[in-house]
Amino acid sequence: MTPENPPEYGMRGHRVPALTAEFIQQVTVRVRDVLGIRKRSFQGKNPEKLLSSLEKHGINIDVIHDAEWIDATKATVDPQKGMIYVPEKLYSEICRGKAKAVRIFLHELGHIVLGHKPLLHFSERMPVENEDSEWQADYFADAMIELLGLPKAEAQLELVF
Ligand SMILES: [Zn+2]
Repeated sequence: MTPENPPEYGMRGHRVPALTAEFIQQVTVRVRDVLGIRKRSFQGKNPEKLLSSLEKHGINIDVIHDAEWIDATKATVDPQKGMIYVPEKLYSEICRGKAKAVRIFLHELGHIVLGHKPLLHFSERMPVENEDSEWQADYFADAMIELLGLPKAEAQLELVF
């Protein structure tokens, strides 16, 4: 493989403007401070506080009955509306601080705070990792988990927003 022919990157999500890892890390710090997210936000009765703080900043969580949801272990997001949709089962796991569920929540939050919308569909240049909305959201979630000192989860399965 030569530098002129880098391996083709397999996009998992939409192609969005590139963000560096460093930039995303800075975003996690700002989001933590603005929303007041802490490790304990995912413990005890604190998730309710977190949700009202999110609401004040125009980010809403819609909890959907499991029966109306195709897969109760996944969430979805509408970044432009600031809406995160979660089934009841996943929501209760987020509130109980279950690592995998918290990571899914932070991933979806990442799509919102990173301002994801599909772009650059007509670029002639091959896409690269840091233009992948899924990579960016995963990176945001992992950086926030690191920043808050939350327990680590295994990598989540692919989600489509
Ligand atoms: Zn995603």
